[in-house]
Amino acid sequence: MSPPQHQQQPPAPTTTVFVGTLIHSTGLATLEIIAPGVLGVDSNGRISFVEKLRHSGESEGDDGVEDERLLRELLTRVGAEGVEIRRLPSHSFLIPGLIDTHVHAPQYAYTGTGYTLPLLDWLTTYTFPSERKFSSLMHAQTIYPKAVARSLRCGTTTAAWYGTLHLPATKVLAETCKSLGQRAFVGKVCMDRNGGEGYVEPSASDSLETTKEFINAVQSLNADTVQPILTPRFAVSCSSELMKGLAQLASQHALRIQTHCSENPAECSFIRDLFPDSRDYVSVYHDHGLLTNRTVLAHCVHLSDAETTLLSETQAGISHCPVSNFALSSGVCNVRRLLDANIKVGLGTDVAGGWSMSVVEAMRSALVASKVVGFTQRDALLALSKIPKSVVEDEGPVLYHDQPHRPLTVPEVFYLATLGGARVLNIAETVGNFIPGKEFDAVIVDLDAPETTTSEIDEARRPVTVFEHDTVTTMFEKWVFLGDDRNVAGVWVKGRRVV
Ligand SMILES: [Zn+2]
Repeated sequence: MSPPQHQQQPPAPTTTVFVGTLIHSTGLATLEIIAPGVLGVDSNGRISFVEKLRHSGESEGDDGVEDERLLRELLTRVGAEGVEIRRLPSHSFLIPGLIDTHVHAPQYAYTGTGYTLPLLDWLTTYTFPSERKFSSLMHAQTIYPKAVARSLRCGTTTAAWYGTLHLPATKVLAETCKSLGQRAFVGKVCMDRNGGEGYVEPSASDSLETTKEFINAVQSLNADTVQPILTPRFAVSCSSELMKGLAQLASQHALRIQTHCSENPAECSFIRDLFPDSRDYVSVYHDHGLLTNRTVLAHCVHLSDAETTLLSETQAGISHCPVSNFALSSGVCNVRRLLDANIKVGLGTDVAGGWSMSVVEAMRSALVASKVVGFTQRDALLALSKIPKSVVEDEGPVLYHDQPHRPLTVPEVFYLATLGGARVLNIAETVGNFIPGKEFDAVIVDLDAPETTTSEIDEARRPVTVFEHDTVTTMFEKWVFLGDDRNVAGVWVKGRRVV
C-alpha cells in the first residue's frame, strides 16, 4: 500500500561517501575548509551529511589509523556502513560545481578570434553570420556537443546557455545538456530588429510563438536538470512589443529571463536613442516588465547609481563577465560597488566574447578587473590632487568613492563562481555549496594532475606545482591563479558522475 500523501518520505539512504578536503563558501567572504571532511551523497543525488573528521589536537599518535577509526565510527552513527567510499588523493579537494551564469553555445565555434572589434561591430562581423549557420540542424549537432562537453570538462556543473534564433537547433542544445548531464538553463534567442542580414525574426508575434514552442519542447524532455529560460538578446534587438510579450510569458510560466545590459558605451548610447521614454538602460527592462528576481543581466559595466538602486530593489542578478569585458574592450566592471549595493552577482564566461569556457579563468580575471578598478580610482585621485582645491569642489562628485577601493579577494571570487552564481540563477536552495539537503553538484580538483613519472621534466606538465610547505589555503589559491581543466579529476551533477 502506498503511504498517505501527508506522510513524510523517509530520508534516502547514503550511497557514496567522499573523504578528504572539502572547500565551499557559506557567504561572500566566508570560505570554509573542512579537512579532513566526510560528505555523504544519498540515492537521490542529495548531500546527506557533511562532517569534519576530527578537530585539531583531538587526534594523537598515527593520524591515519585514528582517522580510519573515527571514519568507521562516523559511518556507523549516520547509518552508512558498507557504502562506497571515495578517498580524495593528497593535494586534491572537493568543491561545489562551478556555475557559468552567461555563455553562448553557438559562439564556441569561433572562440578565441576577432577581438579587435568592439561589441556592436563584433556582433555584425562575427556573431550574426556565425549564428545564422544554425539554421542547419547538422551544424548544431556538430557544435553543441563540443561546447557543452568543454564546459563540463572545465568543471561547470550549471550553465545558463544562449542558443540562436532557431527552434530546432536550440532544441538540440537542450537535448545535449540532458544527454551529457549538465544542469542547464537553455534559451532560444529572441530578436525582431537590428539583427543584420538574414538574422532576425520576422515579427514579435513570430518570436513569441517560437518561444512558446521551445518552452514546451524543453519541458517535454522531462529532464530534471534542464529548464528553458527566456532570452531576449538585448534591448537593441528587441521591440517593445516583443519584450512585453516575453514578460507576460515569464509570469505565466514562472520562467527565468536572461539578457545583456550596459556592456559597451556605444550600445548604451544606442539604447538612449531607441528608448527615449525610459530613464536609463536598466529602466528599459523594468518598464517592459522584464526585471524580476529571476532575471539575469550580463555585464552591467556602465551603471548609474539610479540603475544599481533599481537592480537592488528588484533583486535581479548580474552576470559579471570580466574576460569578455577585456576582450571586447567593453570596460571594467566595479563588482565591489554592485556587492555593496546588495545586488546578486555571479560569474559568466560569455564565450565567445570571452575566450575561455573556464569559470576558473573568469575568477582570476575578476580579480584582475577589480585591481584595475582600484588603479583607475587611485590615478583619478592623484590627478585630482594636482588640480586646485576650488576647482575640485566645483566639480562635485567626480569619483564614485572617496574611500580606497577594496579589491575582490580569492574567497570572494570563489563565492561568485559557486554560491553567488546559484543565487543569481535562483537555485541556491538546490546547489551552490555543501549544505545537507542540497543536490550534490561537485568537482574534484587534483593539483597532482596530470599523472607523471617522478622526473622533474615530466612533472613540469602540471599547471600547478605543489611544494612540501604548501598549506591547503595556499594550494587553493594556487589553483585559482594557475589551475585549468587538467586539474579537474571528476565532476558530479545531482550525484551523477558526468566527467
Ligand atoms: Zn553574451
